Amino acid sequence: MALVVKKFGGSSVATTEKMKNIVNRVLAEKGEDDNIVIVVSAMGDTTDNLLELAAEIGSDPSRRELDMLLSTGEQISIALLAMAFQEKGCPSISLTGFQAGIRTNSVYSKAKIISIDPVRIERELKAGKLVVVAGFQGITTDQDITTLGRGGSDTTAVALAGALKADVCEIYTDVDGVYSADPRVVQTAKKMSEITYNEMLEMARLGAGVMQPRSVEMGKHYNVPIHVRSTFTTQPGTIIREVYTMEEREFIIRGVAHDNNVAKVAVLGVPDKPGIAYLLFSELAKANIDVDMIVQSIRNSDQNINDIVFTVSKTEAAKTRIIVEEIAKQLGCFGVDVDENVAKVSVVGAGMLGNPGIAANMFGALGEAGINIEVISTSEISISCLVRADIVKQAVSAIHQRFFPNE
Ligand code: ADP
Ligand code: ASP
Ligand code: MG
Repeated sequence: MALVVKKFGGSSVATTEKMKNIVNRVLAEKGEDDNIVIVVSAMGDTTDNLLELAAEIGSDPSRRELDMLLSTGEQISIALLAMAFQEKGCPSISLTGFQAGIRTNSVYSKAKIISIDPVRIERELKAGKLVVVAGFQGITTDQDITTLGRGGSDTTAVALAGALKADVCEIYTDVDGVYSADPRVVQTAKKMSEITYNEMLEMARLGAGVMQPRSVEMGKHYNVPIHVRSTFTTQPGTIIREVYTMEEREFIIRGVAHDNNVAKVAVLGVPDKPGIAYLLFSELAKANIDVDMIVQSIRNSDQNINDIVFTVSKTEAAKTRIIVEEIAKQLGCFGVDVDENVAKVSVVGAGMLGNPGIAANMFGALGEAGINIEVISTSEISISCLVRADIVKQAVSAIHQRFFPNE
């Protein structure tokens, strides 16, 4: 008897016809005693369409109301999918995040799951029902609806799989696994049969949108194997787990990721004295703005002034500008420049530890392609470069070709 959590993304449930196909497949593959929990996203572009509706009302809507609005997308999917299972004679019930016991903090639009109490799900499974849960949403202790950030249904699925001690969490999507680069950008990208949590987390954090980063963290925390596979074909996809079981551990570089949701903020002419960086970044932290690459460069050592450059997500650029301009004014800085025409390209691989030359190779590939690097940052298992947004795809292809040359 297996307990499996299966998550179907937006393109997999885009139409009722696609939902009916999912029902047929799930029922055909289900063993008699298997317990199945299905997590679904909103249909097709529903979330984007809801965001557009909100934008028609105002440019900076309340995040609480936005979450109330966005959570409706997943509610449509769960009700229709549960009906489709019932239509085939399979007892089924839909549950919202609240009903599924998903508690979050109250950081609207990017809430974090703080606990899961899956009693209702367990009761329904025991009663012989297939349970369909709304992805992407949870509830605060004040019973306000929250959402978990774009792509958050992945996190709902993996967190539920962990809390229910499921055998596996299957992520069904519109690609048949995790590739060495986004297969829509690099046609020659290679499918991986497995990847570790740490490398997948880094790929996801650096922009590989196939999995939400939080979901991979959850998988690692609970040690649940995650199987990323296609909704539309049946061949095996990519298994994300703690360690490699096959020869794939031999790879030094696992993949190339890119992220277009980046803005570069430059604070110019900052006084060079203790406490300034703290002042700036603690204000951003208070506003729940994640800062990524940070560089401080000496502008003029005689005048004791620096430039501080950092990146935030494009979606938080406007909010960041307001906060940083205020601080810059207080400190008498020269000015603040926010540039949204940048993107980040990264190489990821645990094997790069102790392998000098990876950075040189990456910079060489960009140099030969005539691509200028604006900011560089590194972690133990990745190197990232900021480049102009309009050439990021060329940058991804050039770097991929260097590390994964076509035979
Ligand atoms: P879903 O709606 O099923 O959650 P997403 O659009 O969120 O699907 O994620 C799937 C997409 O992730 C793919 O269509 C692909 O373009 C993109 N992607 C980015 N990087 C990778 C990668 N390294 N491997 C596979 N897919 C990737
Ligand atoms: N519907 C949400 C989104 O579009 C959550 C998800 O699809 O995972 O981001
Ligand atoms: Mg997704």
